[in-house]
Amino acid sequence: MPRPRVFRREGIILRELDYAEADRILTILTPAGKVSALAKGVRRVTSHKAGHLGLFSRVSLMLAQGRNLDIVTQAEGIEEFEGLRKDLERFSYASYVAEVVDRVAPEDEDVSSLYDLLMVALRWFSEEEDLVLGARLFELRLLEYAGYQAELFECVSCQTRLEAEENYFSNEMGGLLCPRCGAGRQGVRAVSVNAQKVLRYLARHEPEIIRGLRVSPATHAELEALLMGYLEYTLERDLNSAHLIRRLKQELSAGRG
Ligand SMILES: [Zn+2]
Repeated sequence: MPRPRVFRREGIILRELDYAEADRILTILTPAGKVSALAKGVRRVTSHKAGHLGLFSRVSLMLAQGRNLDIVTQAEGIEEFEGLRKDLERFSYASYVAEVVDRVAPEDEDVSSLYDLLMVALRWFSEEEDLVLGARLFELRLLEYAGYQAELFECVSCQTRLEAEENYFSNEMGGLLCPRCGAGRQGVRAVSVNAQKVLRYLARHEPEIIRGLRVSPATHAELEALLMGYLEYTLERDLNSAHLIRRLKQELSAGRG
C-alpha cells in the first residue's frame, strides 16, 4: 500500500548528518521501520523544530513525501532521555546501541519490538548507574531479536543440562558447551560460573529487576568479551555480502580513477 503524502510517525533519532547550509538529514527508527528524512533549517538558532530533533530523542513527527527524502514538517518531543546529554560516557553507550540498531533495522517493516528495545536501552543509559550491564542486556536481547538467542541452559552439542561449573561458549554454535564437548575445542571460550549466572539472569528477568543486580568488574570484563564477540560474529555473518559488495564497489571506482 502506498504511503499517504503527509503522515505522522513516532520515532527515535539514530543518526544525523549536516546537509547544505542549515539542514540535517536524520535517520529515524520508527516502529514501522527505518526512515531517512530531511529537517530543513534546524541548524539555525531560530528554528523551533530544532529543540526536539536532538540525537536519540523520541519524537512525534509529521513527514511529507519529498522527491528523494521525506521532509520533516513538524516535530514534537515525547521523551528526551536527558541524562544522555549531560554525561559523555552515557552518550557513548547510547551511540553504540544506536549504531547497532541502525545496522540491523530494515526500512518499511514492522520493528516494534526493536523499537521497544532501543527505548529500554536509552532509558537505561540515561538513568541507571551500571551502564556496562545495560549494554550486555541490550546485546543479549538484540541477539534474540535477530534470531541468535544464545543457548544458556543445555549443551549445544550433546544437549545435556549444564552443571554449575566452567563451561564453554561457541559463537558458531550459538551457545554454551559442556566441558566434555567444549574443552580443547577450537574457537570456543571458557565461561566462568559467575558469568553464566549473570547471563541466565539477564535472559530471564525484566530490566526493572535486572537494575538491582551487582556484577564484579572481572565478570563484566568476561561478559563484554563474550557478548560483544558473539554480536560482532552474527552481524558480520549477516552483513558479509553487503560488506563485500560495498568494498568491491570502492575498489572498482578506485580502479577507474
Ligand atoms: Zn556437551
